[in-house]
This record gives sequence, C-alpha cells and structure tokens, in this order.
Amino acid sequence: MVAQLLEGGPLAQRIKETLRGEVAALRQRGVVPRLVAVYFQGDPESLVYVRKQRKACEALGICCDSRELPVDSTETGVAEVIQELNDDPTVTGILLQTPLPPQIVGSRMQARIDPWKDVEGLHPVNMGGLLYGTYRVAPCTAVGAVELLRTIRPSLAGLEVTIVGHSKTVGKPLALLLLESALEAPTPTICHVATGDLAAHTRRADVLLVAVGKPELIRGPMIKPGAVVVDIGINLVEVLDAAGRPVLDEKGNPRRRLVGDVESAGAREVASWLTPVPGGVGPVTVMILLRNTVECAKALAELGRTTRSASVPTPSGSV
Ligand code: NAP
Repeated sequence: MVAQLLEGGPLAQRIKETLRGEVAALRQRGVVPRLVAVYFQGDPESLVYVRKQRKACEALGICCDSRELPVDSTETGVAEVIQELNDDPTVTGILLQTPLPPQIVGSRMQARIDPWKDVEGLHPVNMGGLLYGTYRVAPCTAVGAVELLRTIRPSLAGLEVTIVGHSKTVGKPLALLLLESALEAPTPTICHVATGDLAAHTRRADVLLVAVGKPELIRGPMIKPGAVVVDIGINLVEVLDAAGRPVLDEKGNPRRRLVGDVESAGAREVASWLTPVPGGVGPVTVMILLRNTVECAKALAELGRTTRSASVPTPSGSV
C-alpha cells in the first residue's frame, strides 16, 4: 500500500476564503480585528514566525502588531504588558509567542490574557469551554488536526484512535475535540512518556495522531496497515550523507530539513493516508489561528468592547 498524502493546503485555502468575507463584513461595520503578538528578544525563529503571522493576517485585512520584550523580563513586567493590551479596545487578539524565557511560566501568563482576546484558546476559561463543549476558540493545532482528519473521515464512530503526546496545547485538547460528538466520536487512547508499550497502542489504531516533538519516533512497523496517520510533529534535523556525516551548505553550516514525528517513508508503505511534514497540519493550524482571531473580534464587537472607527487603523509595530 502507498499512502495518499493528506495535504493541509486545500483546507487552509477554504478557511482563508471564508475568513476573507468575514473580515470584510466586520470592517464594513467599523470593526477591525487587530492581533498583537508578544514575543521575546533573542530567538530568531520567533521573529520569523511573527513576521509570517503578520503577512498572513494582512492578506486577510487583519491588523497585526507585535511587542518585543527583553529576554530578562519578569512575570510582573509581562503581566503589565498583557494588561495594557487587555485594556486597549483596539486590540482584539493577543498571542504569547513561544519560546518563553525560563523565568516566565507560560500557563500563568496565558491566564492573564483576557479570555475574549485569547486567540490561542489556551486560557483556562477557554480550555474549560472545551471540556464542556461550549468553546468559542480552542487550541489551534488540535483543531487544525481534527478538521484536516474530518476532510477524509467525517465520522470516526467505532474507530480506535491513538494520540501520542499529551501536551496541554495539542494532545489533551485533541482527545477532547475527538470526543465532542457522542455519535461520531472514536475511542481514543492517549500515550505519553510513561506509556509502557507504545507500539502496542499505535499498532491497533485506525487513526494515529502524533504530537511528540521526537523526530521520526513512529516507524512503519508501529502502524496498523491501512491506518490514517496525522503527523503533527515539526522537527528540524541535520541532513546527513551516506556515511552519516552532516552535509554542509555553501557557508559551511550544517544543512537542515524538517521532519515529522513519523518516519514518512516507512509510514507511506503501511498507512492509507499520511499528512506530509511540512505541508500537512501546519498550514491548517495557521488558518485556525486567524479564524480564532476573527472569532475574538466578532465576540468583542457583540459585547460592545471594540472601538468603532470610520478610519481603519493601519498596522504598526516593532517588526
Ligand atoms: P510538548 O509540549 O513538548 O509535548 C510533547 C508530548 O509528547 C508530551 O506530552 C510528552 O509526554 C510526549 N512524549 C515525549 N516523548 C514521548 C515518547 N517517547 N512517547 C510518548 N510520548 C512522548 O510538545 P507539543 O507542543 O505538544 O508539540 C509536539 C510536536 O508538535 C512538536 O514537534 C511541535 O513542533 C509540533 N507542533 C506542530 C504544530 C503544527 O502546526 N503542525 C503546532 C504545534 C506544535 P510528557 O509530558 O509525559 O513528557
């Protein structure tokens, strides 16, 4: 069997088109979605990510600013910035860009963000909504993975699903999202570092979702023939030559490439569907973040908490 590739591009494009109309309608009412990304100095990848985010937002008419904070910021200092953004009626969404410096506890800072402006769906109130099935926004990657899966398996009733990884941002929300509709829900198993025999659980999965952050942890023999495999992992690894030595680029630096948590060549021989890395869950995740941003703006507008203005703010910021 050669697995078909479950690419995220087409779904991401459909979400984008819907959002384009929604943002235009909001702007006509004088409501301009405005996302502010808070990030820390010293991590070049954060900067790249924030710039990409800004481009994606602006393509849809969403304003996107950023606040760069010193890497030695205290939690009090970060909380003050968050409070300022919470209080600003022109800001409709706040994103706390990871990685955070070690002295900053992510969950404490997430809880400081106004839940109505929590575009990542990580505030305890929004996480609680996920548990109760009443959420407005939910963690982007988990939602993206489930929506991508549902494009080929609209109903998961009767299926065994194994989730590898139980992080607060991906694995746990995934399980809750899958259990949402009683009639179409699968039977999930959640694996983590203390799981005794990982392969025993992955091998009986009709659908395998992997979010671990360990390059190619899941190999072909660990996959049930015909399974759908959703590889959420994104890992940067060095390219090696046939002798196992790092391949260098023209500047003499090790060449690197992106791989998932699933060894794709082996998985493609066994699975029926496999999400590629890159190009699978990633593009959908980006669109879910934008959709959450629009949802937050809509909700704040309904609450009368946005600034209605005839003059539409133009983007500005430190990036
Ligand atoms: P994380 O917070 O580090 O969580 C990793 C999870 O994997 C933890 O629950 C950990 O268990 C578990 N784990 C680690 N080693 C394991 C093993 N050998 N067997 C079973 N479980 C194991 O990472 P994350 O934020 O969930 O992200 C996971 C991956 O998804 C990363 O590669 C990340 O880059 C990627 N990601 C992709 C997207 C996207 O858009 N595609 C978005 C976000 C993240 P313990 O907690 O018990 O240690």
